[in-house]
Amino acid sequence: KTVDPGIQLVKDRLQDVRHKILILSGKGGVGKSTLTALLSRGLAHNYNELNVAVLDIDICGPSQPRVLGVNGEQVHQSGSGWSPVYVEDNLSVMSIGFLLSSPDDAIIWRGPKKNGMIRQFLSEVDWGSLDYLLMDTPPGTSDEHLSAATYLAKAGLTGAIIVTTPQEVALLDVRKEIDFCKKVNVKVLGVIENMSTFLCPCCQKQSEIFPVTTGGAQRMCADLKVPFLGSLPLDPTLARCCDEGRNYLTEMADSTVVKELNSIIKNI
Ligand code: ADP
Repeated sequence: KTVDPGIQLVKDRLQDVRHKILILSGKGGVGKSTLTALLSRGLAHNYNELNVAVLDIDICGPSQPRVLGVNGEQVHQSGSGWSPVYVEDNLSVMSIGFLLSSPDDAIIWRGPKKNGMIRQFLSEVDWGSLDYLLMDTPPGTSDEHLSAATYLAKAGLTGAIIVTTPQEVALLDVRKEIDFCKKVNVKVLGVIENMSTFLCPCCQKQSEIFPVTTGGAQRMCADLKVPFLGSLPLDPTLARCCDEGRNYLTEMADSTVVKELNSIIKNI
């Protein structure tokens, strides 16, 4: 069986990238893209000597350009590859969203074409040297995940972070994500529970919104012996900042979300 030459190209391209992390979720809408953006902003902001980048491999639903506030920017091709878009001096992003002529364009691709795009993203973006490359993926375990795991295996994938809500329906899918990671030999760095509580913008009181019958993500992590990285509340201001591409971290520096985020970052 011939080996895909892309595997070596990805290894060569990413040799100056210290930590390569996939961000996964079992279901859509649990906050995976939001967390990817928050973690990248948090790492870049808290440790400004670190170089951080986000690669959006959610081919059919790229949201990083909008969430990171760089919608409509262009990527350029140079002799050394594609240049990513810079959000801050030490935070860059690459997404298929930058290559679409309109943000409303639908990408309707079968597996091999998605595989080709991921190979190109992993082997042709000129990131420079990076401390963290966070990769936002589509929900579930599909072509994109298998392609990424295959191409990154030789390049030294650090592992995966799984995002979930506390609901049992979401947790059921997290178990499948953990099983997928085991099967493709990807280390689970831990699970983040999002929307654990609702943070009232008027009185700052935290209330439970989802029925938690089995102890939520923390209990599941203990059962499955994977690290629990922490939880974030649902905060309407965060949703608004993401929609408008504003930097929640600097605007809401004293918020519960930022405090929780910083403790999650320490746990990674
Ligand atoms: P996914 O990537 O898992 O599909 P998103 O990150 O796109 O999910 O989040 C889905 C929606 O929920 C978005 O509108 C986002 O702004 C919002 N959201 C996610 N996490 C939070 C949170 N902790 N507080 C408020 N809104 C959130």
